[in-house]
Amino acid sequence: MSKVLKFEGLLTNNGWLCPAYVELDADGNIYSLSQSESAAVTEYVNGYAIPGFQNAHSHSFQYAMSGLAEIHPDPTSQDDFWSWRETMYNIALSLDPDQFEHIATMLYVEMLSHGYTHVAEFHYVHHDKDGKRYTNHAEMGERLISAAKTAGIGITLVPIFYQKGGFGQDPVEKQRRFISASAQDYLELLISSEKASESYSKANVGLGIHSLRAVDKESISAAFAEAKNLPVHIHIAEQLKEVTDCLDFYEQRPVEWLLNTFDVNHNFHLVHATHLSDSEVAGIAQSGAHVVLCPSTEGNLGDGIFPLQSFQQQGGKWSIGTDSHIGLNPLEELRILDYGQRLTTHRRNQFISSSNGDTGLFGVDMALKAGRKAMGNGNKNYFAVGQPLDAVVVDAQAPLIATSRSEHILSTLVYSGDRSHFKGTIVNGDWKVKEGRHLQKGEVVSNFIKSLSELKIR
Ligand code: ZN
Repeated sequence: MSKVLKFEGLLTNNGWLCPAYVELDADGNIYSLSQSESAAVTEYVNGYAIPGFQNAHSHSFQYAMSGLAEIHPDPTSQDDFWSWRETMYNIALSLDPDQFEHIATMLYVEMLSHGYTHVAEFHYVHHDKDGKRYTNHAEMGERLISAAKTAGIGITLVPIFYQKGGFGQDPVEKQRRFISASAQDYLELLISSEKASESYSKANVGLGIHSLRAVDKESISAAFAEAKNLPVHIHIAEQLKEVTDCLDFYEQRPVEWLLNTFDVNHNFHLVHATHLSDSEVAGIAQSGAHVVLCPSTEGNLGDGIFPLQSFQQQGGKWSIGTDSHIGLNPLEELRILDYGQRLTTHRRNQFISSSNGDTGLFGVDMALKAGRKAMGNGNKNYFAVGQPLDAVVVDAQAPLIATSRSEHILSTLVYSGDRSHFKGTIVNGDWKVKEGRHLQKGEVVSNFIKSLSELKIR
């Protein structure tokens, strides 16, 4: 049976449609979209629907360590990305498949509560605790898809090719769960992952290289040759040490080397890309490649500030991700991104808006379109007939929203909002979170607590 939802408003590429009548087919796809009633309304929603946020970079298991690497008993010791990574490795080594799935399910429920409707999972914990393959090569990836299905979020599983311990170095013992011995081994994993994705209609796959330090040149070439039209994800130039190590090994900076060595195009999603020369900024923009920025994690890890202003001026495109999940609020990711620029330039209008100067709209639009590309989805319509209704609904009764003219709604949300401003999140036409509550949350929380108490890490 079809449903007809009436929203107070719905954001289209041409502005707000107020009110908005959305008729859905049995699969949750939009059958009709209009400002006038064409069929009997089955539900009135006192809110403004905007497209669901796209989370373009996630390592789900790291959610379990949120807040655990923040105690620094010796202020004279060096605590940085590399010491954080030791804590992260210890957790990655301790998880069994059930625990891995329970953590991911909890995380995805929380993502939906914050307005994300799709996540790209940059997944590298492939093997068992001894580093041996599971009988099903994609066992752990399949668990992520199962977690996404339980939570009701869309997922792009990006199995990651991880081969080395550093430029020209063998992997260390603690990396044993991540390692593919060869490009062939990785490509088999990719095929198994594609097969696993067939079990969920909102799942697909991407191709991923952990970083230039983690895979050698020939193997990257062999993997890229199989990418075809898949989105390609890679961590790059996140840390200064990575840049100097790359200069030592390849005599070029990471992004410089990538651009000079491979046919980098619009299917590429360069995660972080924090440390760039001017020519690298221009090179990424000209190639059409996207960057994936994870401001809360990058801030937490002390990575640095991406040269956003210069990149945007050259037509560069970016999406957002929550990476380690120290923050899960997409509005906060946009704010931190913008405020990093304001704080360093002493100017307020650092988000470039092509149309009407509305920075909130600009941030939402950029993160949506580039985020969808990171999922292998080139659709630029916010909502359209034939497309699934994937939306987050802003509460029309939230005090600042209730008193805003429509042109102020998005910036009010982006600059002063949080999850309490949402009425809920809809995926494929169904409420996954309604009035702040995910429908399966009770069981998901108890499984999460059970797994975390077994692990004894918190
Ligand atoms: Zn990452």
